[in-house]
Amino acid sequence: MRRFEYDRAAAPEQAATSASTKDAAFIAGGTNLLDLMKLEIETPIKLVDITRLDLQQVESTDDGGLRIGTLVTNSDLAAHPDIIANYPVLARAILAGATGQLRNRATTGGNFLQRTRCYYFYQTDSACNKREPGTGCPAINGENRTLAILGTSDACIAQHPSDMAVAMRLLDAKIETVKADGSTRTIAVKDFYCLPKDTPHIENVLERGELITHVILPAPIKGVHTYDKVRDRASYAFALVSCAAVVDADDNGTLKTVRLAFGGIGTEPWRNEEVEALLTDTDGNIDIITQAADLLLSDAKGNGQNDFKIPLTRRLLKQVIQRALAGEGA
Ligand code: SF4
Repeated sequence: MRRFEYDRAAAPEQAATSASTKDAAFIAGGTNLLDLMKLEIETPIKLVDITRLDLQQVESTDDGGLRIGTLVTNSDLAAHPDIIANYPVLARAILAGATGQLRNRATTGGNFLQRTRCYYFYQTDSACNKREPGTGCPAINGENRTLAILGTSDACIAQHPSDMAVAMRLLDAKIETVKADGSTRTIAVKDFYCLPKDTPHIENVLERGELITHVILPAPIKGVHTYDKVRDRASYAFALVSCAAVVDADDNGTLKTVRLAFGGIGTEPWRNEEVEALLTDTDGNIDIITQAADLLLSDAKGNGQNDFKIPLTRRLLKQVIQRALAGEGA
């Protein structure tokens, strides 16, 4: 690990100012950053410690939602009574990720910023456009079993690894930030991530020194909340395909609310509202599910080892809708 300067921030604005210098980074839980620093994939010359900031509360908002401090740990958020009662899809997604020890350290804001688990990204002796722009992408014709099939480019096919962010995308969460000049802004999660295109090293819209301070959840959505995660082992494994869903049907079995977001298949948490609209006001029969899967995957592109994700996603979508129609959560 390279030497770095350390600065402990006392206020969000101070943290943003301190981190506005080139090659500075925030540190909170450090569950991804410290690994990246040890491997010298990330080499910040300054770490701005934000762990003492007063950003550890979960508060109610006037419109019936929640405002979550960026430092609320994944464990605390998943165990919060309001999350369990009103946003169970979020609790389940968080608990599907990592391990208890990691969730005790990992923070809400940091979870959005975790980096891909592409094998080549962590092999510092291999090319990787995300780690070293312009060097190439060996994954496209190499080890790509876990990588993305949607939102990819000729420069990068890395999947987004977060479970929590998939549920946040489903729930139309928003991210509040403070910038180095003291100004604040609110960014919808749907607008937060950047597709890789020809700049896969740019992963989100945050500016230098911009600090995530809170995450806003809108009022709860009525329906069956589920988070299904298909992975290679039962715990401590990233999603091959996951699906966060809120589905609600009336007494006649007609789907009135359909929200679906997917992990493991996209270069960012993946949601397609046209698919949801196609399923809404139908009885969720197998023909309409097939059409929805066709639409969801119309631009999907496998690269050999990860081709299986296309039929696996189709089967997961079918399972989610049929189980929700039967009134079963997961
Ligand atoms: Fe690097 Fe992205 Fe290619 Fe993986 S998929 S090797 S992260 S450029």
